[in-house]
Amino acid sequence: MLKLLLASQNSGKLREMQFILQDLPIQIISPTDINIHLDVKESGKTYAENAALKAKAFAEASGLMALGDDSGLEVDALNGEPGLYSARYAPIPDADDGDRRDFLLKNLLPHPRPWTARFRATIAIAQPNGEISYTEGICEGEIIPEERGSGGFGYDPIFYLPELGCTMAELDEKEKNRLSHRAKALEKAKEFLRELV
Ligand code: IMP
Repeated sequence: MLKLLLASQNSGKLREMQFILQDLPIQIISPTDINIHLDVKESGKTYAENAALKAKAFAEASGLMALGDDSGLEVDALNGEPGLYSARYAPIPDADDGDRRDFLLKNLLPHPRPWTARFRATIAIAQPNGEISYTEGICEGEIIPEERGSGGFGYDPIFYLPELGCTMAELDEKEKNRLSHRAKALEKAKEFLRELV
């Protein structure tokens, strides 16, 4: 069976991938399964570059096909910030997700609502021979000033989905895995993988 290594130690991403790709004859492997421990620096200038850096490093280290991803939140009133820097957005050391949400809201407060925004994810699949394929997924929404819900992570409690009338943090895992930016990118990657197997 074709093997696909996830270029991340994140167990949530592993579950998401296993769920979405479950009907393909592909074995999803996590780096710990094969004792690979790599810390790849996200030094790229785009999501695609960062996703490829991770996918390539894990494909080279394992000799397997590897899937890397990178994602971020883009807020229109802040000219696309925090974007590529979503995970590091907050001017304080050891900031957590709550600090980053507070910092984002502080920056948004002077701007008129609605605060339209989107999550964007890029997936790169690297072959052991160095070939790389990319897919992208986008989830549109709006930032709201008060937190709602306790699911998900990151900016989910302030990311409102107007069509559903709730925040991303109010969705259960299954629903989020259906409509998130990463899920959409993964669905497109699935079409590519289907052709491979
Ligand atoms: P990465 O793609 O795992 O490097 O994530 C980048 C950052 O974007 C995360 O640390 C979060 O701050 C933000 N982010 C990405 N995806 C999501 C999501 O689904 N919900 C909330 N925040 C997200």
